[in-house]
Amino acid sequence: MSGIVIIGSGQAGVDCAFGLRQQGYAGPITLLGDDPELPYQRPPLSKDVLKSRGAAGWLPLRGEALYAKQDIALRRGVRVQEIRRADRQVLLEDGSALPYDHLVLATGARNRLPPLPGLAEAAPLALRNAADTRRLIAALPDTGRLAIIGGGFIGLETAAALHGSDTRVTLFEAAPRLMARSVSAELSDWFRRFHAARGTDIRLNARIEAVRPGQLLLAGGEAQAFDALLLAAGVMPNVELAAAAGLTIGNGIRTDASHATSDPAIFAIGDCAEAPNPFAPAPVRLESVACASEQARRVAAILTDKAPPPQGPPWFWSHQGSARLQIAGLAQPGDATDIEGDLEDVSDDATLILRRLRDGRLCAVETVNQARTHMQARKTLAAEGAPEAAG
Ligand SMILES: Cc1cc2nc3c(=O)[nH]c(=O)nc-3n(C[C@H](O)[C@H](O)[C@H](O)COP(=O)(O)OP(=O)(O)OC[C@H]3O[C@@H](n4cnc5c(N)ncnc54)[C@H](O)[C@@H]3O)c2cc1C
Repeated sequence: MSGIVIIGSGQAGVDCAFGLRQQGYAGPITLLGDDPELPYQRPPLSKDVLKSRGAAGWLPLRGEALYAKQDIALRRGVRVQEIRRADRQVLLEDGSALPYDHLVLATGARNRLPPLPGLAEAAPLALRNAADTRRLIAALPDTGRLAIIGGGFIGLETAAALHGSDTRVTLFEAAPRLMARSVSAELSDWFRRFHAARGTDIRLNARIEAVRPGQLLLAGGEAQAFDALLLAAGVMPNVELAAAAGLTIGNGIRTDASHATSDPAIFAIGDCAEAPNPFAPAPVRLESVACASEQARRVAAILTDKAPPPQGPPWFWSHQGSARLQIAGLAQPGDATDIEGDLEDVSDDATLILRRLRDGRLCAVETVNQARTHMQARKTLAAEGAPEAAG
């Protein structure tokens, strides 16, 4: 028996390995990850770890001893080079081969590099893994002016972690609003004012034409000087291994509802996978801890011949200073927004509930500092079922 090989030691890979043992799988499990660290949680990197300059919040996904206890062969700092489907083997960087009965791809995503002249040469800082975070923290003492490219969760969490510090943050977002893929226009604007009130200079509709050493050149001739540059302009899924092996790729490694790829012996989960979701009109690739964990649990059940737990409504969180944003469900552009709370209040005590409605039916709930409402919304959405499924 060759057992199960998992590529990627992030949230999805680790949860799948432990989930398999929990479901009673007794065969060999090998977890391969190119990150040399003991697998860790990513969310704190842009929040407590950054805010405390590395002193707090560095959290392993599981204690080191548990891998041995659960007989999970964790191999750190090992990169998989190739999948040989015909032989059911993966080839490692060092040339060795590892056989599998089933393979789980949990290869995650990496920072997207926008095609801006001079950007690659400027070697911008990133915030995707532990090494990135250490580099960013090390750069901060010399960083009077930090320019951030990207007004999504990571860029804004970074800005929030630096509120009140000596670092002056200017954030450039190409879209007309912040977190445009994730939240309603009303909440985007609330967060813009929330960050501006705490000293972050936010530039929407930003047109960066080129990057020069220490400078962003903007359309219209303006130059913005920086001491450090952080790239937070979204991610792209790590699909190359799967693509080279001939698996079907969409906006991620494409799977069916059971998370199997176009090869039934190979599954894909987490940030790298595009899967049907009862709460989305079309297959979707979600970037969240909740999705990675849910898909990992489902594959662990499927690989041990059990019925997978049902897919619940997707949910997300982003802590930006005192603003605890939580989102339950998936909204689409054009969904109506029903607001409870005072949008003018951007104080630390502000609370907001924004219900997103499609044809009068609840499809998502965005909350700020309303954890109980968020939990209730997840229950309601799960009980009512997906608007897509309602037909
Ligand atoms: C800074 C930060 C903050 C975040 N905050 C939140 C948050 O607040 N809430 C939330 O829900 N989500 C958050 N996320 C997103 C969340 O962390 C991800 O959605 C989740 O970690 C995805 O897990 P994953 O296992 O699919 O992928 P990843 O965590 O990316 O893990 C994939 C791993 O596979 C490795 N790999 C890739 N190719 C190979 C190969 N060929 N061989 C070996 N290894 C390989 C990668 O290097 C990586 O270590 C955050 C992400 C970041 C980066």
